[in-house]
Amino acid sequence: MPLTGIAIFKLLPKTNCGECGVPTCLAFAMNLAAGKAELSACPYVSEETKTQLSEAAAPPIRPVTIGVGDRALKVGGETVMFRHEKRLENPPGFAILIKDTMQESEVNSRLERAKLQYERVGLTLRPELVAVQNESGDAKKFEALVNKVKQNSDCSIILISTNPDALASGVKACADRKPLIYAATKENLEAVAELAKENSCPVAVKASNLEELAELTTKLNEAGINDLVLDSGSRTLRQALEDQVIIRSTALNKKFRPLGFPTIVFPCEMTDDPMKEAVIASIFVAKYGGIIVLSDFQGHSLFPLLVERMNIYTDPQRPLATTEGIYDIGGPDENSPVLLTSNFSLTYFIISGEIENSKVPSYLLVKDTEGLSVMTAWAAGKFVADAIAPFVKKSGIADKVKQHKLIIPGYIAAESGGLEEELPGWEILVGPREGAHIPAYLKAQKS
Ligand code: SF4
Repeated sequence: MPLTGIAIFKLLPKTNCGECGVPTCLAFAMNLAAGKAELSACPYVSEETKTQLSEAAAPPIRPVTIGVGDRALKVGGETVMFRHEKRLENPPGFAILIKDTMQESEVNSRLERAKLQYERVGLTLRPELVAVQNESGDAKKFEALVNKVKQNSDCSIILISTNPDALASGVKACADRKPLIYAATKENLEAVAELAKENSCPVAVKASNLEELAELTTKLNEAGINDLVLDSGSRTLRQALEDQVIIRSTALNKKFRPLGFPTIVFPCEMTDDPMKEAVIASIFVAKYGGIIVLSDFQGHSLFPLLVERMNIYTDPQRPLATTEGIYDIGGPDENSPVLLTSNFSLTYFIISGEIENSKVPSYLLVKDTEGLSVMTAWAAGKFVADAIAPFVKKSGIADKVKQHKLIIPGYIAAESGGLEEELPGWEILVGPREGAHIPAYLKAQKS
């Protein structure tokens, strides 16, 4: 049984030093019991206490890593039902399905599509997994395909079969990549458990309902296998979604360890319509897929899924922010215009993109507004004359340009008077309100 907050409190140093981020040991104990804190945050817990608290300190949903190195995917480790409670920790991975019955040309093109990637707000968005399925029933064919995937993709690998011999052949080909073995079932549990243990690989467990799933994970835990991924077996959207919610809620709210693992879902087996499949996948990004297996990757459906995932898994307490400073766009010189914006990443990328579109080389001053957008930062008093002027002086931009003209966003036009007072020698120009109007504005300034 997990320990209560009071039981944990009794084991803590009770000095209320606050180094764990909350003011008292009691508050820390309560957070720990609720799975909202990690024991490592308290530097004063003895080794003996750590052992005693290990169960309480373990995340209610175990983090599981698939693959190795930079491309390894970590899923699970979640501590909340809803993003606004704290944040969601580990984004789900997207897998492309490749079967050993497919033509070589199809396999090759899917391996190419597994490399799709996009730049957005300074981040590289890409899928992480290739799911290799032994549909032929031929272990040798399966092994050959796994080998090919390993040689042609740096994605992490899922091996799909219910035949332990085929899985063993697949693992033989890529054991060094620590693949996810899919799946242990009621019928093959012992053989797959043995294979996973020998190769230290994570295992997906597939059952026909949640009760059976809990029984199987308990057996695997007793066999010493702890890195598990859950498949409740449902292949209708309604049932699969219900299962995801029950698994998450039972693990977090009831601290039910047998379901305290990340999940794998198969939109590819829920519909034949690619657009419907993308919509189903988007539902599991929000609730609560750990690995989402798609029948194929196409840019027009993959990109929105990657962006949705990025948005949902961004820490709501820390907006994506760009570093404060002077950004050179298009090779500016001493006669180039100087624009100002906030450091909310999306704002920065929109404004810098529009300046690039204008083909007018410019300096962009990005002021640290704690990741808030222009209007929000202005309303919060972080993007007003008193805050902007010291930044402009300190930035060194005055040494880079001959004409001291600063173009501020149209939305903070009210600050222009204050800025002229605070920045003697600078002329303050009010730029457009919308980023899309920047190219025309800069061209007009130039002429
Ligand atoms: Fe208590 Fe440890 Fe937190 Fe200090 S860091 S308040 S000792 S739990």
